[in-house]
Amino acid sequence: MTSPKAGEMLHLRGNALGKGDPVALPLTQSSMFHLPGAPDGHATYGRVDNPTWVHLEHVLSHLEDAPCLSFPSGMGAISAALFATVTAGSRILIPSDGYYVTRLLADRFLSQLGVSVEERATTEFTDGGFDGFDVVFVESPSNPGLDMIDLAAVARDVRAAGGITIADNTTLTPLGQRPLDLGIDVVVASDTKAMGGHSDLLMGHVASRNDQVMERVEEWRRVSGAIPGPHEAWLLHRGLETLDVRFDRMCGSAQILAERLTAHDAVKQIRYPGLPDDPTYALAQAQTARFGFLLSITLEDEAKAEQFINTCPLLRPATSFGGVHSSAERRARWGDDVDPAFIRLSVGCEPVEELWQAIEASLNAL
Ligand SMILES: *Cc1c(COP(=O)(O)O)cnc(C)c1O
Repeated sequence: MTSPKAGEMLHLRGNALGKGDPVALPLTQSSMFHLPGAPDGHATYGRVDNPTWVHLEHVLSHLEDAPCLSFPSGMGAISAALFATVTAGSRILIPSDGYYVTRLLADRFLSQLGVSVEERATTEFTDGGFDGFDVVFVESPSNPGLDMIDLAAVARDVRAAGGITIADNTTLTPLGQRPLDLGIDVVVASDTKAMGGHSDLLMGHVASRNDQVMERVEEWRRVSGAIPGPHEAWLLHRGLETLDVRFDRMCGSAQILAERLTAHDAVKQIRYPGLPDDPTYALAQAQTARFGFLLSITLEDEAKAEQFINTCPLLRPATSFGGVHSSAERRARWGDDVDPAFIRLSVGCEPVEELWQAIEASLNAL
């Protein structure tokens, strides 16, 4: 299954070209713009706008079906969304088992500015309700545990309680899950992962159909200076041109590998939303278009996990995920609250039989 919008996305710019214009997106590497007289409606200065971002954001908006602003990293986007929505005295709720730097941002900075920060585990996220929270930040599926939250239910309950929801949609991309269509107010994502897809850039974006939020996010970017470099914007745009084909391959391969890994003796535990006995299966079927390219396996012990990651010739032992090269790492090495032999595996674009042969041979050799 591929995205119905992916073909239109490839021709967004092309259909507006004049004769002789380049088909590939030009990279505008300039801080200054020729600007005699009134500046209205033109690029003014590199911190305010850039034609390469503008086109990238056009493509991102098409994918999200919402206004979008790009940032130099996923954390740049998450910071913008939070600084645009909280003030001193706000109460915010974040997942205790999501991407750990979001928790650091909240604990090390927001709480120092008079924001009260509370945490809940993804599997117990709705327990206690949402009364009194100004901002509720969710991540589904969570990284690295791959637990899921009922996004439509959270969006509805938070709105009824007068708060705003922000969803980190990094792990599934807009092709795999559409939080805004489920009622979430703001989407944030690290485009460093599958969106860029080639492990050669850091970028992020914020998308929302709430105009006031987007005005604040734009102001934050312009004033804080957290702007993407034109070259990264250009690279991300190029990556997005193959997102549909990469994501389709990655998710399809992940399903096949998950089914085979389930049956392998070296694997003590496996999590993948596309396995019918995974705790997330029913929710994943209801709210995601694809089950994703991330899976986790727990082997017998830490030494075997390290040996597997470091010897499998088609797995890069690396942090981060979503690239064309399959990669794996033990999350406990960063202090995530998981088993020492827990491995997050990001399935890349290698042909699946070749990839399975390499994985199976490395597991058999443990
Ligand atoms: C990687 C990641 C981020 C942070 O993105 P950067 O581009 O590294 O700043 C945020 N959320 C999730 C779920 C991530 O995986």
